[in-house]
Amino acid sequence: MPGKNIPNAATLSPEEITLREELRADVQKLAGEIGERNMWHYAELNAAADFIENSFSRTGLHSRRDSYELRGQACHNIEAEIQGARSEIILIGAHYDSVFGSPGANDNGSGVAATIALARRFAGRKTEHTLRFVAFVNEEPPYFLSGEMGSLVYARRCKARGDRISAMISLETIGYFSDAPNSQVYPSRALGVFYPKVGNFIGLVSNVHSRTLLRRAIDLFRKHAKIPSEGASLPWFIPGVSWSDQWSFWKNAYPGIMITDTAPFRYPYYHSANDTPDKLDYDRFALVVSGMEKVIEGLDKL
Ligand SMILES: [Zn+2]
Repeated sequence: MPGKNIPNAATLSPEEITLREELRADVQKLAGEIGERNMWHYAELNAAADFIENSFSRTGLHSRRDSYELRGQACHNIEAEIQGARSEIILIGAHYDSVFGSPGANDNGSGVAATIALARRFAGRKTEHTLRFVAFVNEEPPYFLSGEMGSLVYARRCKARGDRISAMISLETIGYFSDAPNSQVYPSRALGVFYPKVGNFIGLVSNVHSRTLLRRAIDLFRKHAKIPSEGASLPWFIPGVSWSDQWSFWKNAYPGIMITDTAPFRYPYYHSANDTPDKLDYDRFALVVSGMEKVIEGLDKL
């Protein structure tokens, strides 16, 4: 669904400026202060888990750990829930581990900061759907797309319990934008024909099965957000389409979409030691998150 590629001339509202500073502070905490966080940096992984749990708790929501063991070490998915009028769940999630050798500011400090910011904004509101905010452990290799991936463990438990998840929204690397010509590339040449070559938009991606959810989300996003967006429902096997926690929910027959700046197809510091907090564009990052707040509000009313 290629959209019109308008330049980013938007100014931030006072609420969006507050949001931007929350995002900046939380990315700084995760990637600047805690830094690399994964099973090789286990103390830091747990420091990130503590930080997320405390951040959820400070919103007034009850935060809990959904844990499993990996070769004798405890790993924690962290969740906070708003009980809605209905039992159907809209789940907003992001992985909080970083890849080996990287402090993970954009991947995925950005997604976690956004998840916390959205939890703050919905806490205390009355919603139709139950809203669940989840930070996932162990998304990055060697757990990536394996049975030990935090979100797959989590999604399997949801399925086994009979949780009715009507939408899973995966926030994956959402803070880098560029206005330079040819700053955007694609996993296949065919896609490059249809989509812009300037990396100034946010992407919404799903598998073919989740195309109705994708269509709704992109319509809502374009109605409200002040930043260009591109949407695509693509076969899961196209490189990049399955590359985050939405894959785990697809595997359990739940509809899911990924929100992403397209990570390796745009971000020069992807999976490197240079994925640091200073690389993010916090203005446009804030516009993505304020747009997603409207998407969740809209999906909640359906
Ligand atoms: Zn990631």
